[in-house]
Amino acid sequence: MIRKSVIILLIFSLLFPCLPRRAGALDASQGEGISLPIIMYHEIKHSKLGKDVVSPWEFESDLKYLKRKDYNTVTMHDLTDWFYNRAPLPPNPIMLTFDDGYLSTYKYALPLLKKYDMKIVLSLIVKNTDDFTRNPDTNIDYSHVTWAQLNEMLDSGLVEVQNHSYNLHVVKNGRYGCVRKKSESLAVYEQILKTDLTKAQSEIFQQTGVLPTTFAYPYGRYSEDTDTILRALGFQATLSCRYGINVLSHEKTPDLYRLKRLCRAHGNGIGALLDEAYKTIKKKPPAEPQVLK
Ligand SMILES: [Zn+2]
Repeated sequence: MIRKSVIILLIFSLLFPCLPRRAGALDASQGEGISLPIIMYHEIKHSKLGKDVVSPWEFESDLKYLKRKDYNTVTMHDLTDWFYNRAPLPPNPIMLTFDDGYLSTYKYALPLLKKYDMKIVLSLIVKNTDDFTRNPDTNIDYSHVTWAQLNEMLDSGLVEVQNHSYNLHVVKNGRYGCVRKKSESLAVYEQILKTDLTKAQSEIFQQTGVLPTTFAYPYGRYSEDTDTILRALGFQATLSCRYGINVLSHEKTPDLYRLKRLCRAHGNGIGALLDEAYKTIKKKPPAEPQVLK
């Protein structure tokens, strides 16, 4: 009963986020829109590097590059606060996202975030964190963070937790992430999505005291009806895997759904990734700051 009322409270609080204010001055920095690259990482390890795995050295070189180029890391809270409440964003904003909640995020990313004072957004597969809390394991190849480790990350002020589903990050029984099955009615699909995501919200809130505002689609996949259900649950933003740099403005951006991301794979550095992506919006990345002599 208590659990049920907590869930109802969570849904209620999600249903009434701050609405965008129509009046008020534009941010001076906004111009034609704010360019916001969002980088997507998964794992940081010393071996088995690849599409979703970079080395600690590569991640550190990314952070050094961003510092040198005067980028400022922002969180989803910063972004939704800018969008809904017109709070200012720092110049040259960039968002670093980590999906899934692997142990390597705690072991390798956190110390480097502290060293360079940079922030990440961590989208958590909640069931995995429940499972690894119950049965801790330190194998870096497959382990996920425990709730204690996640809370330590949150306490640093450099990590923000968001929702990556409770247990929809799977491909099984004809289901691919949170994509609607062909054979399934809308009502059944809606029920499955709502049950899973509400359970994830409730568990994150109970374990950390934080209520996520953003949903990262598992595998970046969604159906025509997915967003309608997410909106009804009150999510203020979603992270996709569509390639590109987001250009956002209060005038032209209807919402913060399906934000584009750039996948940082092993190999080329973040500089090359950003240079290539900026070409698609016909803008140049921030220039190297001048060295004063
Ligand atoms: Zn994922």
